[in-house]
Amino acid sequence: MKNILIIEDEKAIAELERDYLESHGFAVHLEGRGDVGLQKALEGSYDLIILDVMLPRVDGFEICREIRQKLNVPILMVTAKKEDIDKIRGLGLGADDYMTKPFSPSELVARVKAHLARFERLTMNHSERSDDIRIRGLSIDKLSRRVMIHDKESLLTSKEYELLLLLASHPNRVFEKEELFERIWGLDSNGDAATVTVHIRRLREKIEHDPSKPQYIETIWGVGYRFKV
Ligand code: CA
Repeated sequence: MKNILIIEDEKAIAELERDYLESHGFAVHLEGRGDVGLQKALEGSYDLIILDVMLPRVDGFEICREIRQKLNVPILMVTAKKEDIDKIRGLGLGADDYMTKPFSPSELVARVKAHLARFERLTMNHSERSDDIRIRGLSIDKLSRRVMIHDKESLLTSKEYELLLLLASHPNRVFEKEELFERIWGLDSNGDAATVTVHIRRLREKIEHDPSKPQYIETIWGVGYRFKV
């Protein structure tokens, strides 16, 4: 069952959306406050997020921006004001879709299904489900831990391999350096986020055609890295 988070402060609207989605077989969680909703969303256990723009404490624009820095989950923004749509587009917040209120619940359900299906195709293409990852000339064979760049093997150290695998298994997700360090090296090992920088540099020298213009691992300034798709 797919889990949907609705962040909406108008209770009647939130409940209508929930009832419709539940009757179509979705599990739905409601949050009325922006700050709590953001926190819930960042836990990462939802398949899709329906996000109102005007919310108490933290508004939908900020929530969308923060979710997008960390997660690849589809976001459908909902607003009462038509002019917000231009703002959503203009800010490049990374929302997948937007609807203006009032809308029919059946249209909401249709869009939710469409985005879930699109997202599933995307993640299947980048094959979290099979043993191999293939993205633009780069392939990772998880069983043999071999990495090929345009059919030429790239010899990586074990940490370089783990770093690449983690990033490439979550295409477009931004990882903070600290998180990469914790996940690959573990909290008790010596070193810090700078270790990650050094390894990313070596990894780029091995997999990028031009390490100064990386095609695979992108630096998100002030945050960390992501694997571009
Ligand atoms: Ca609202």
